[in-house]
Amino acid sequence: MTNNFSIYNTLTRKKEHFKPLNPPFVGLYACGPTVYGDAHLGHARQAITFDVLYRFLLHLEYKVRYVRNITDVGHLENDADEGEDKILQKARLESLEPMEVVQHYMNRYHANMQELNVLDPSIEPRASGHIIEQQELIRKIMKAGYAYEKNGSVYFDVTEYNNSHPYGQLSGRKIEDLLSNTRTLDGQSEKNNPLDFALWKKADPTHIMRWPSEWSDGYPGWHLECSAMSTKYLGMEFDIHGGGMDLLFPHHECEIAQNVAGYGKPSVRYWMHNNMITIDGKKMGRSLGNFITLDELFAGDHKVLEQAYSPMTIRFFILQAHYRSTLDFSNEALQGSEKGLTRLLKSIEMLNLVKPGETSTLVVEKLIEKCDKAMMDDMNTPILIGHLFEGVKWISALSEGRQSLNAADLEKLKSLFHNYVYKVLGLNKTQSSETGDQITGNLVEMILQLRTDAKAQRDFDTADRIREKLSDLGITIKDRKDGTDWEIN
Ligand code: ZN
Repeated sequence: MTNNFSIYNTLTRKKEHFKPLNPPFVGLYACGPTVYGDAHLGHARQAITFDVLYRFLLHLEYKVRYVRNITDVGHLENDADEGEDKILQKARLESLEPMEVVQHYMNRYHANMQELNVLDPSIEPRASGHIIEQQELIRKIMKAGYAYEKNGSVYFDVTEYNNSHPYGQLSGRKIEDLLSNTRTLDGQSEKNNPLDFALWKKADPTHIMRWPSEWSDGYPGWHLECSAMSTKYLGMEFDIHGGGMDLLFPHHECEIAQNVAGYGKPSVRYWMHNNMITIDGKKMGRSLGNFITLDELFAGDHKVLEQAYSPMTIRFFILQAHYRSTLDFSNEALQGSEKGLTRLLKSIEMLNLVKPGETSTLVVEKLIEKCDKAMMDDMNTPILIGHLFEGVKWISALSEGRQSLNAADLEKLKSLFHNYVYKVLGLNKTQSSETGDQITGNLVEMILQLRTDAKAQRDFDTADRIREKLSDLGITIKDRKDGTDWEIN
């Protein structure tokens, strides 16, 4: 396939033709979760966006090393490097060891990702496993003169850095504006300047997660781990760095500054950011009462939810918007996605039953071209889905005999749907719980009908055997006058 893949680069603010540094290899890094709470819709959107990018690069036959980190050291409540570590806070509230909190939410996150059919990354490094690499980077930054130590903590010197390198390029912020918008230091802070950020924090006596260093027993600043781990696994320069728009500033801005200060150059060639999710037009937030976790969504267990939504419905809903647009959640929109997805998946089943004709009355290449073009254009999944629905219309015409395709064209149409729906968009019919439940239900009903027939023929041996076998599978049945009730235990 010719590669005309273009990516909107947040750094240059324009679409650029994607040229990997060392083709066919592609280095991809995406910021992963901070594991101190259940994953929510925002996590799903970020993970699915970069999962589809990963899948699409594989589809284009690149060899991708996909690194997605786990933030398990915990960072402080606000960007001013103050407040309590969120993981520690949770550990204290639940009387747990911090690493128990981390393990619990990491397992939950992995389970959710599997439900959403998000592929595992190639490497999933944890911040706590890379303290030495982070300390090494701090030493480099200090040696270059862009960091200073105060009372056992080390801070990045943004003003000094900005004298020779522009700070704020990625987010389009100017240091003067940033300064005038930041409250002045209250005399309590150790920082020389409010824009400076922590590379190393001295742990106070109650802080459990701590590591020794020449500065103090302490822990690294949050931004540091992504610089250290991306460099370790993808090199000093790599292709794509992704994350949610909420990470653009300060997290990614600080990451660039750390790399330039420590290694002498920026590491990332294409920065990609997915937009946020709103709920009924409002920002999602714990304090706003509209904060929905993925488990709540899958179970329908939240006051704003009218019903449960399957992981595949959520995935499809997210892909129906372009990743750079905001996506508004509502029951109505999700119900629409549920119907659309069912129609799309059923069509593929129908397509598998279509028999080839003598001649082709449809031009399959045209449809393939349009689908490819949509994905090549900065991963435009809504446009791709639109074209696939044009294909859905074709499929009903084909199965009703109103159109026909010869054997070769029919195969092409099948692989178009298999490639884009299953492989690239990652919509998996076996993961769609409503479809799965329906099939199970139909199978049980079918077996019970056979048992009723057996009883009608006074073949009670067979009827009893069916009852026992179902019971072995965990299905209990109860005969009524006018039929049979069944229940999965
Ligand atoms: Zn990060």
